Amino acid sequence: MVQRILERGEIESLDHNAIPRLRLPAADSVFKARAARLRRLAANEIKGTPVSPEFSGYLSLMAALVDAQQAIFVTLTSDDAPLPDQAAIALAREHAMPPLLISAERPAIWRNILTRLLTQLQTTHPSPYITAISTELLGLEPAVLESLADAVLTQRTEFLTPSQAPFIAAALQVLWTWQASKLNLPDVPTLEIGTLCPVCGSHPVASVIRIGGQSQGYRYLQCSLCASEWHMVRVKCSHCEQNGKIAYQSLAPDDDATSTTIITEKPENKANDPQKVARAETCDDCYTYRKIFNQEHDYDVEPLADDLASLMLDVLVTEAGYARASGHPLLWFGESI
Ligand SMILES: [Zn+2]
Ligand SMILES: [Zn+2]
Repeated sequence: MVQRILERGEIESLDHNAIPRLRLPAADSVFKARAARLRRLAANEIKGTPVSPEFSGYLSLMAALVDAQQAIFVTLTSDDAPLPDQAAIALAREHAMPPLLISAERPAIWRNILTRLLTQLQTTHPSPYITAISTELLGLEPAVLESLADAVLTQRTEFLTPSQAPFIAAALQVLWTWQASKLNLPDVPTLEIGTLCPVCGSHPVASVIRIGGQSQGYRYLQCSLCASEWHMVRVKCSHCEQNGKIAYQSLAPDDDATSTTIITEKPENKANDPQKVARAETCDDCYTYRKIFNQEHDYDVEPLADDLASLMLDVLVTEAGYARASGHPLLWFGESI
């Protein structure tokens, strides 16, 4: 029998009591599940996440955009999007740095992905809006597009046009999600900071309590860029990592899309009311929030899609004095909002 030293991730996988610290994106389902969920949310089928008729149209457009992401994702190869070599992986691990760091040089293929996304949308979801965005973005010089990509990756909204940014973000998501899906778990170190993606260093979009297997009942933060999910204990701020002043805000029950009421729950309640699919986890140490979804209550919950659709909760929690800890890749606001 050949003996060898087990990598950390392999040791974890041998310990059936260990919490899986990281869930890399599943290549066959991440965009498919997201598009399907966006469609159901757009159709107002998800109880607890009411969607207004005006916002429903935007969610349908985003569902078509995610379909286009999926169509391109399956065509990518390692020639398009080379993975870091073993030396780079080892260096990143030694320094506890994300192996697909957002600030590293990125393959130019993402601009080709952007072109293909917009071209597909003009066929599958044609509108004067899409034609206008396509004309604007596809007319830009590569250097300008690269600077817009930098602004999206670092969430510097002052350099971005809100109508353009979701499409740039979507192209970058395809590239990073593809690369992340090809990594091996032991290649990804645990970062000192728990609030950034260990795969790429981006902020999470939202968090989700997962069910099934070893992840049962544990809370994961989903990366806004590469869709990796990393473990963070429950009842802890995903922005400042304090745990003393956490509460949960949700829409009052049976409200429609014009709801103006939120309900506050303390952590003792475990945020466990099955009627509540969407909650904001607020922190009175840093006065920010991120949303948390519970797969125990809705199996098909998808953090990025559900976070986008529950915009009403953002409005009310923001009015209550909390700032969103980080933006949403498919919905950007200008400086004035
Ligand atoms: Zn990531
Ligand atoms: Zn906090």
